Amino acid sequence: MSGDASSSTDGNRTHECPFCRERIIEGAIKCRYCQSMLVPTAEASAPTTKSEPIAIILDRGIWNYLKVAGGVLAIMLGITVFIFGFDLYKGTKQIQESEEEVSKHKKYVEESRNVIQGGVQEIEEGKRKAQEALDRIMDQPTELDHRIKKLLESQGTGLTAIPLN
Ligand SMILES: [Zn+2]
Repeated sequence: MSGDASSSTDGNRTHECPFCRERIIEGAIKCRYCQSMLVPTAEASAPTTKSEPIAIILDRGIWNYLKVAGGVLAIMLGITVFIFGFDLYKGTKQIQESEEEVSKHKKYVEESRNVIQGGVQEIEEGKRKAQEALDRIMDQPTELDHRIKKLLESQGTGLTAIPLN
């Protein structure tokens, strides 16, 4: 049987191949009888066993970086909010309110301008009518007309005063 093969002549220890049960030298990576790979060799498993720790280290590195960066950011944000947060909020609100006020005033100014323009037109119209009336009075002046003219002049209405005859 294979009893004699348990120890080779050159002193190497042997063990049984798990696949074909032949005695093979201990430490052999390949069975010389059945050609089976006996140990998951470094070369064979290198891609997976090597890449896994790298991936873990990379992930851990990124995670640590993110943790540190996130922590610093959170602290800075916390300090900022603590110091300026309320003021910032208040300031923003005030700016918004100011903008609303400004737009309100703008609208009011626009409306006022329209009213003023309308008023100016009315005044111009009134002036024109008054001037017409005054011209008529000047054509046929009476004592009353004379007094009206004087009154108009003294009130500084801007109406043209035509000298009496
Ligand atoms: Zn074998």
